Order: sequence, then C-alpha cells, then structure tokens
Amino acid sequence: MDTFFLSHGSPTLAIDENLPARPFLRSWQEKVFRPKPKTILMISAHWETTDPTVNVVDRNDTIYDFYGFPKRMYQLKYPAPGAPKLAKRVKELLTRAGVKNVKEDRTRGLDHGAWVPLMLMYPKADIPVCQLSVQTNMDGTYHYNMGKALAPLKDEGVLVIGSGSATHNLRTLRSGSPVLPWASAFDAWLEESLIKGRHEDVNRYLEKAPNAKMAHPTPDHFYPLNVALGAAAGRMKAELIHRSWEDGSLSYASYRFKRA
Ligand code: ZN
Repeated sequence: MDTFFLSHGSPTLAIDENLPARPFLRSWQEKVFRPKPKTILMISAHWETTDPTVNVVDRNDTIYDFYGFPKRMYQLKYPAPGAPKLAKRVKELLTRAGVKNVKEDRTRGLDHGAWVPLMLMYPKADIPVCQLSVQTNMDGTYHYNMGKALAPLKDEGVLVIGSGSATHNLRTLRSGSPVLPWASAFDAWLEESLIKGRHEDVNRYLEKAPNAKMAHPTPDHFYPLNVALGAAAGRMKAELIHRSWEDGSLSYASYRFKRA
C-alpha cells in the first residue's frame, strides 16, 4: 500500500460541484488508487488530543464539526463500519515504538476531515475506518515518528491517509481571490521538499519553509502530512496527485508516497 496526504479544504467540498478537488477524489478508485484496502486509518486535522487516541467503535457516527453551513451539510451521512481491530493494532505499534499513554475513545465517529474526502473516494461507506488523533502540543518530528511506527500497516492491507491542508489560514480566505503569493510560495516549497525527499525539512517546516506561520498559524492541518510521510518510511517517492485552490489561499495539494 502507498500512503497519502489529502488536503480536505472546506467542508463544502462535500456538496460544492465547482471545486476541482471533487472530481479528483471521485476518480480515486478508478484513476488514483485501484487496490481496495481492507481497512482505512485516517489521521485527521480535526481530532486534536493531548495523548494519541484511536476510536474504537462498531460503526462510525458522522460528526458535524462545522458551523453556519447549508442545512444539507448536516444531513449527509457516512456510516462506515469502525475498525476496532485496527485500532488495537495502531495502539500496539505506537506503544511498542515508545509512545506513551495511547488512548481509546469508544464513542467518537468520523469528523469532517475524515468523512468528507472518504464520501467522495469510497461512497459506499463499506470499508472499515479507524481514526487516530494529532497532538498540537508536539512537533512535526514527533508526528513523523508516529507515522514510522505505523509503517507495518502498509503490508497489512491498511490504507493510511493523512487528511489536513497544504495551507490553512482561514483568516485570509477571500472568495474569488487569485492565489496569494505567500500561499503559492509555501505550497511550492512543500512540493519541492517532498519530491526531493527532504523529509527533515518538512518535519521542521516552521524553521525551513517560507511563510510557514502564515500558511499554518496552527499546526493541526500540517501534522497529518508528517504522519503519512513517516508511515511511508524507507525507500519511497513522493508524487503530487492533485493541486487546486479555493478562496486565494486554501491549497488542495495532495500527495502519494509510493514505495520506490
Ligand atoms: Zn480542515
């Protein structure tokens, strides 16, 4: 299995036919990634906890963790089965790698960082999904190492997806705006660093990237990338699989990390 980082953009990706990331995600099974995974591990920007946590449920509820959106958005459902066995395995791998206090959440379903892209990629909602949280009190290297600990999952039929955003500064979004130079500079830096295999720079993006604090005032939407990158560990090659923009500074750049 390859691992992936997806920029999930705005929640309205679920319904807005004008967003180019929609046809990209809809063509997922046909054009991007054909093997059908046994289970999916989603690391979403929208689940932040102090200790790494996995959800252990039989069936995932759909969480509407956004406000003031069209009513339709609150009626969408993505009732994918939970993946309690995968959750235990994730816990075991992290613990074995020395990560302390890995926790289980027995009620939480899927937040929109997980269900919005999955709804487009796997509309039948028939593949079991487990979520793993991010720790915004920690850094990129910590999340990369967490991903590295999860690398064996690739050989166990698990599709590991980090779901965040290549750039994410909600205060700068302007409808109809051309792409802002600081956003495209960060986005281009990220692409080049990934393609050239400069993983350490990516992990230390705050020091290394241009406009890092502008692109990510908080790190929550970046860390899922570090996890997906770490999980691909070893001889691998990064590939840009999609790029589009919304509101001048929200990048939908998405990547595949493929075994070389
Ligand atoms: Zn988000």
